[in-house]
Amino acid sequence: MSGLDYPFSFECNNCGRETTVTRDDARGYYPDPDSPNAARVVLEQRGWKQGEFEKTLFCPACAGRKN
Ligand SMILES: [Zn+2]
Repeated sequence: MSGLDYPFSFECNNCGRETTVTRDDARGYYPDPDSPNAARVVLEQRGWKQGEFEKTLFCPACAGRKN
């Protein structure tokens, strides 16, 4: 299998804010940037949180408001 198709863009399901994860970002936080987990780890480091459903994401501001 070839590597993942970086960069990935993610959008907050609440406010529409966007964040982009590049291969370099992933490499900084995760030993293998081609792992499916790599982008998720970068998002967690940035304070983004996954919602109840797999494709639901909230930016730090919206994730904090929910708690
Ligand atoms: Zn948001």
